[in-house]
Parts: sequence; C-alpha cells; structure tokens
Amino acid sequence: MSAARKARRMMRDNPIAPGHNYGAKVEQYLRDNPPVPGTFLEIGTYHDDWCGVFKGGRCNCDPDVRPIDRTPDPSAN
Ligand SMILES: [Zn+2]
Repeated sequence: MSAARKARRMMRDNPIAPGHNYGAKVEQYLRDNPPVPGTFLEIGTYHDDWCGVFKGGRCNCDPDVRPIDRTPDPSAN
C-alpha cells in the first residue's frame, strides 16, 4: 500500500489521531465551537517546541488549538 493511501485510510479510520494530546483538545474545541453549517472551519494546532510530533512521535505537549482565519484581505488584491 502506498504511503499516501495508507495516510488516507488512517485519516478515514481515525479522523482525530488517537494517542496524541492534540486529539482531545481539537475535540473539545469543536464541542465548544460547533462548526456552522455551510461554512468552512480550519483549526490550527500549535505544539510546544519540544513536542514529540517534531521527532516523528506522538504529541505529548499541551498544544494551543485555535481557528485559522483565511478571510481574504481586499488590500492583497
Ligand atoms: Zn504537541
């Protein structure tokens, strides 16, 4: 199985990666801030510098979870 296919299957089976600290934080964020139907929500997860994800392991920090605002800025045109 290709790496991309394996990754897609993992995301399908485990939409929020189990065993990583950020999973519970993202789930809590979504409970507190339910997505509005018809809108798009992108959430950023910001890990501590020493977090295991940067070494190919699991998230073992207390990451910040917050929405990413991609609202276009008219001045950028
Ligand atoms: Zn982390």
